[in-house]
Amino acid sequence: MNIRRIGAAAAAVTLALGLAACGSDEDGDKLKIGIKFDQPGLGLKEGNEYTGFDVDVARYVAEKMGTPEDQIEWVQAPSAQRETLLETGQVDMIVATYSITDSREEKVSFAGPYFIAGQDLLVRADDESITGPQSLDGKRLCSVSGSTSAQTVQEQVPGVNLQEFGTYSECVSALQSNAVDAVTTDDTILAGYAAQDQYQGQLRVVGESFSEELYGIGIQKGDVDKCEQINEALTEMIDDGSWQAAFDESLGAAGFTPGPGNPPEPDTCS
Ligand code: GLU
Repeated sequence: MNIRRIGAAAAAVTLALGLAACGSDEDGDKLKIGIKFDQPGLGLKEGNEYTGFDVDVARYVAEKMGTPEDQIEWVQAPSAQRETLLETGQVDMIVATYSITDSREEKVSFAGPYFIAGQDLLVRADDESITGPQSLDGKRLCSVSGSTSAQTVQEQVPGVNLQEFGTYSECVSALQSNAVDAVTTDDTILAGYAAQDQYQGQLRVVGESFSEELYGIGIQKGDVDKCEQINEALTEMIDDGSWQAAFDESLGAAGFTPGPGNPPEPDTCS
C-alpha cells in the first residue's frame, strides 16, 4: 500500500468511527423518562403521541434541565418494574403516578412531590352495592402488582378477593366484561378511565378516598443534585401557571378536581 492509499484508508476508518460515534451519541444523549403508556389523563401513548399530566410534568422538567422534547426517549414503566428500571439505569427518571414510600426509598430517591392523589374504587355505573372499601367483602377486586393500591387494600380489607394484573387498563377491561366487580387505585387514574369515550356512562368512581398518594419523580438513589434541579423546575412549573394549565388540559378535562394540599411543595432532597 502506498502512502496515499494508507491515507485514504485511515480517512475512511476515521469517517466510519466518526459516524458510529455520532449514531451512538444520539441514543446515548437521550434522556430516558419512564411513564405509563396506558393511563389516559396521566401517561398515554397513542402512536407517536404522548399525553397526560405526568408527561407534561416530565416535559417541563426536562426542558428546564436543558433537554428539549426531541431528546427525550419515553420508556414504558409498569408499576412493578419502576425500581428495577431505575436501579439498572434503563431510565434516568420516572414520572408515572409513582407514590413516594419508605420501602421504595430504600432502592430509589424521589424529587417532588408534585401531586397528591388518593386511593379509590371504580365500579360499573349500575352497581350500587359498592360504596367504599368496607363493602368489598365477597367482591372480586382488581389492582396492579407492585402498586401501593394492591398493598393498601389488602391491609385494610384482609379478606378481599384481589386479582393483581400488570396494568390498570387490563383491570378496567375485566371490570367492563364482568370478570371483576371493582378496580382499585388512585382516584386520578380511575377518573381518567371513566372519562374515556369507550366507557362513557358505564363506569363510576365511588369517591371515598382511603389513602394519600404523594407522587414523586423517581431518580437513582442518592442523586441529590438531580433531585434539587427537578424540585427547582417543579416549583417554577407551579409558579408560572404551567402546572395548573397541564392539569386543566388532562385530568381537569376528565372532570377531576385536585384534592386539598395541591399543588404540594417539593420536599427537601436527601
Ligand atoms: N400511586 C400508586 C403507586 O405508586 C398507584 C398507581 C401506580 O401503580 O402507578 O403504586
